[in-house]
Amino acid sequence: MLGFSLPKLLILIAVIAVVWYGFKAAGRINRNRQKESNTAARKETSEIVAKDMVQCPKCEAYCTSLDSHTCNA
Ligand SMILES: [Zn+2]
Repeated sequence: MLGFSLPKLLILIAVIAVVWYGFKAAGRINRNRQKESNTAARKETSEIVAKDMVQCPKCEAYCTSLDSHTCNA
């Protein structure tokens, strides 16, 4: 006797299936949460960019930063 009986085998398969589906569900929840936080972060970033717009004193163009701005003239 190897200690394996049909009921034990069925329970083992059931446990593996539960763990497998549990991991799948957790992965799906994590992905959804990441998507939500990414969207929220993008919203915040665009708001900050809109607030930080500055006008160039030379060409009067609006840009996010004068350091990265080059005048078109
Ligand atoms: Zn300029």
